[in-house]
Amino acid sequence: MITIHKGHIFHIAGAPMVTAAAEALAWFPNGALAIDRSGRIVYCGNWADRPAGLDGSQVIDHHGCYILPGFVDTHMHFPQVFCAGAYGGGQLLEWLNNCVFPSEGLLADPEYARTAANEWCDRMINSGTTMGLIFGSAFPHAQDFLFETARERGLRIVCGRGVETIAPEWSKQRTTEEEAVRLVRAEIEKWHPLTPEARKVALQFVAIVPRFSLSVTPKTLAALGDLYHEYRDRGVYFTSHLNENARPKTGEIDSTKAVYKVAAYLDTYDGKFLPGSQVGGKSFLGKRSVFAHCAHCTDKELARLAESGSSIAHCPVSQLFLGSGTMPWRRTVAAGVNIAIGSDYGGGDEFFVPQILNACFKAHISEGIPVGMDSYPSDDQSISLHPAELLFTGTLAGARALDQEDRFGNFDVGKEADFVVMDPSKCNTYAMTLKHMYKNPVTKLARDAQLFAVIMLARESVVSGTYVRGRKLKTSKG
Ligand SMILES: [Zn+2]
Repeated sequence: MITIHKGHIFHIAGAPMVTAAAEALAWFPNGALAIDRSGRIVYCGNWADRPAGLDGSQVIDHHGCYILPGFVDTHMHFPQVFCAGAYGGGQLLEWLNNCVFPSEGLLADPEYARTAANEWCDRMINSGTTMGLIFGSAFPHAQDFLFETARERGLRIVCGRGVETIAPEWSKQRTTEEEAVRLVRAEIEKWHPLTPEARKVALQFVAIVPRFSLSVTPKTLAALGDLYHEYRDRGVYFTSHLNENARPKTGEIDSTKAVYKVAAYLDTYDGKFLPGSQVGGKSFLGKRSVFAHCAHCTDKELARLAESGSSIAHCPVSQLFLGSGTMPWRRTVAAGVNIAIGSDYGGGDEFFVPQILNACFKAHISEGIPVGMDSYPSDDQSISLHPAELLFTGTLAGARALDQEDRFGNFDVGKEADFVVMDPSKCNTYAMTLKHMYKNPVTKLARDAQLFAVIMLARESVVSGTYVRGRKLKTSKG
């Protein structure tokens, strides 16, 4: 049995780099997305051009709605589910100490953790996020609730318990070195698909997640590196933060370099975490490694990320909220590193990927713009991102960052059908703007302008359906 979803379709076809996303933009205003019983795409194109073999299929008509690939969020913090909009009375450190660390500790209570897991999965479904790379809780019972709930609902997640072997005395999340490794191994054994057959169909995967280099010791990095090496051929992921906060001396980057006595922050994740960037263990870099932020990487660090096939989770909303600056778009793209989008929820106060892409556009069109007119730079770093580049960053780039581009991320035939249906009638401003906006007589410009408005003006309320592998997901409320 084939099911055809009719609607206004946009996606990035093929496997382009971000710079070629505009040429790869596929647009079918009267589109058809046909899906077989196993949830795979058998046709995506104009309704009128559908093959005769699809006659007799079940048709679901999303009249007036947009159909986009499911959003992929490559950086989120599960234990911060109730932390967005938290006020710490100062900068990053005050925010962490006064709000975030104590909030994350609340998941020690199993009932609270169950509520958090339920709410987390509801939010992913309500916001069309079909895959999330998630910093997990330090508490195994909270991780079990999250994995169980994601499995029940049919959501894709990659998640791992946050490892901290250095933390304030009062932290409930800190463990010993031995305990940290034991708990990560147990999580992999329990929740990661360890055989090739299981990996082909799995929706939930495990990552190794040191919170960041300052929350662990060289000994922890060495032990986790050994563990990663043991499991990396079985598809285990790695993720952490990199080059987020550049405040002199007290900021994350200077502090990391001072504590580890390394030349570059990235060295600590690249096995070179001993003084003088000497090799002390195995590298975490590779095609299933995602580094959040990268707002202040050196050219050498970017080159190393690119050559190793690692990806960046770009988190513009969070970078604005925490005053971290922004990832330099042009320089990072030029280095050849894959850039996917991340909410960094709750450092970011926005869960809905189109709104994070909205912030991405604004961050980069304003990038490097000086305050005074006299100092307008000759090497202007600002860029007006094409709507196809935004769509790419929120969908296909995420699938690529997670080394699952062969499974989802766009509507190429043979892929698993992850998609989101957005219904303009659920938001008056959205509906009226998309209906009455100026339509440029040049078709391509009209197409691009429409996609731009579809992304920039979307709000979570317009999501009317979130599908993974062709199946509509249900929240706890049905
Ligand atoms: Zn983060």
